[in-house]
Amino acid sequence: MSAPVLMIGGLDSSGGAGVLRDCAVANAFGVTARVAVTAVTAQSDHAVSAVHLVSPDTVRAQIAIAGQVGAVKIGMLGTAGTVRAVADTLPPAPCVLDPVLMSSSGHMLLDEAGTEALLDCLLPKTDLLTPNLPELSALARHFGLAPKEHEACVARLLQRGCGAVLVKGGHAGGTESVDRLYRPGLPVVPFTAPRTNSTLRGTGCRLASAIAAHLSKGARLVSAIETGKAHVHEALSSTSPP
Ligand code: PLP
Repeated sequence: MSAPVLMIGGLDSSGGAGVLRDCAVANAFGVTARVAVTAVTAQSDHAVSAVHLVSPDTVRAQIAIAGQVGAVKIGMLGTAGTVRAVADTLPPAPCVLDPVLMSSSGHMLLDEAGTEALLDCLLPKTDLLTPNLPELSALARHFGLAPKEHEACVARLLQRGCGAVLVKGGHAGGTESVDRLYRPGLPVVPFTAPRTNSTLRGTGCRLASAIAAHLSKGARLVSAIETGKAHVHEALSSTSPP
């Protein structure tokens, strides 16, 4: 029996993304989930109509009462106060951080001060950061880099103490979707899947929570990513194109 995985993030009322999606993924892999909800959102696939932020103290309390876990997955955080609350109370377990900055419908899910706090307080406690290309460009701007200076941005993220960065290539063109794993002093490892024509909300949540669920089962990082990537590809393949 594997240790539970702790999912920290927002509740998406549509169930497409956020902690409801994270728990469904953990469940699919036979791993128990604990949850710390940072925000309650009202969403459809096309819009976010309301966001109620949970207080940092309540987020702290949810993390504290979760007890011992085998891994942590972090998604939407909302504000700098919540980022700091999470950084202060993070349990000692491998931590996968999906830097959720905006919903695919265009609603900001972490403010500017929150992004600064994430880079300052949470990044050094992160074992794996999973930005997509728009998120990496947004983080590059925080380092004073041009949005396309992806390699330089990854180098800065690793310098700040993040254990590894998985850059998700889903937003790039091409017939394949290639994610690349960067670790200090090691060769870059690519993870490739055929591109599908379908679109699906919460693919970032699915990948990060599948990786965390497998880390919780004791898998090594590369194997956890391989399984997570296959899981997302399977979900995309079973969705009809728009
Ligand atoms: N809403 C919440 C609560 C989330 O946690 C996330 C992603 O982690 C999103 C929305 C964004 O998902 P999508 O890009 O599918 O809109």
